[in-house]
Amino acid sequence: RRAPGGARHGWLPGHAPRLLRRCGQVDPESAEAYRAAGGFRGLERALAMDPDAVIAAVREAGLLGRGGAAFPTGAKWEAARRAPGQPKYVVVNADESEPGAYTNRKLLEEDPFAVLEGMLIAAHAVGASRGYVYVRGEYALATRRVERALAALRRLGWLGPDALGHGRPFDVELRRGAGAYVCGEETALFASIEGYRGEPRPKPPFPTTHGLFGKPTVVQNVETLACVTLILAEGPDGFRAAQPKLFSVSGHVRRPGVYEVPLGTPLRRLLEDCAGGVEGELQAVLIGGAAGMFLRPDQIDVPLDHEPLRAAGATLGAGAVLVLNHTVDLWRDVALRVARFFADESCGQCVPCRIGTARQLERVAAMAGRGGRSDDLAVLEQLGAVMADASICGLGQSASWAVLSLARQFGLPAAPAAPAEGGKER
Ligand code: SF4
Repeated sequence: RRAPGGARHGWLPGHAPRLLRRCGQVDPESAEAYRAAGGFRGLERALAMDPDAVIAAVREAGLLGRGGAAFPTGAKWEAARRAPGQPKYVVVNADESEPGAYTNRKLLEEDPFAVLEGMLIAAHAVGASRGYVYVRGEYALATRRVERALAALRRLGWLGPDALGHGRPFDVELRRGAGAYVCGEETALFASIEGYRGEPRPKPPFPTTHGLFGKPTVVQNVETLACVTLILAEGPDGFRAAQPKLFSVSGHVRRPGVYEVPLGTPLRRLLEDCAGGVEGELQAVLIGGAAGMFLRPDQIDVPLDHEPLRAAGATLGAGAVLVLNHTVDLWRDVALRVARFFADESCGQCVPCRIGTARQLERVAAMAGRGGRSDDLAVLEQLGAVMADASICGLGQSASWAVLSLARQFGLPAAPAAPAEGGKER
């Protein structure tokens, strides 16, 4: 289905959608339509429960954060609930700047109430009284939809002085990012909300005890909160038995878009049954965005879940899947762009990342020009090790993953073909 203003979406044949079931079907600006389509059931259940019981339900469901770090959501909430200090905050990380990732955009544009409902459930569970939604600056429609949903919730009393019942307040501000990839990193995001440059801070201390404005904070990805809403609405057992996961598929497939599949579905089924199959001959799949890993064609039966992907040398990341066919030069068209991306997006605060991403770009550019040399892999590995060990934040720590994965899975680039004898060098 292609929804107005949004990317195409769909789901695995034979599996009823849960996260996407309202997308394109229900007016995303109407709280009444949301309620009529099953909305607010999870929140009403949560508010009738003790906060510890809500956290226990999220733990039982086995929910891991969907933003890429895969941290257990229930454990995060428990830590924030036990942390001393007031006020406490819930922050929705809707910065979604990973190249090829647009699942959050889909949910915010077409089912924003489900995300905000999850945010209210989190607020009740951890005892938060204030929240922020930090939306990627380029997401104009998503921003408008969230603004309208917030206004509707305020009118209905779901936000305000008695939002969580028994006189417990909760209200939310919307903030727009300004195009910095690093602001998707949670502590940089806090700095941006606080009015400072979006520069990450070293951890520990962790946000659950020292987060936004130095107070206990739960920061969650958009899809994670939509899952929370589902868990409270349908119960943890059903969620745990078949966890829904969104993937944004782009590149050389017949139907690029956002697809919902059960966690553990083979990559091949995502590509063939959802995205319509590969256009041309499959050469590689980059899974996880710029900080992702390459898979070879003989690996596409890997189940899309954390452990199997780790065993295959990849990660789930934020669910971005880029399909590359035989026409692509993996080093010159992809690795060079990834290296340039990290050199551009490094905030420059710490030396290993600032210098390491620049040196990585120089080396990849040289390899793209002249072909790989025997010492290239060792240099790239040394740079990667230093950045992984000594960078402050995940940007620097993961800046070498895609380049190293390409080198290990596909080898170094071949030297460019020499001009034919008597031919003109171009
Ligand atoms: Fe900035 Fe890179 Fe250091 Fe992160 S690792 S703080 S992006 S310089």
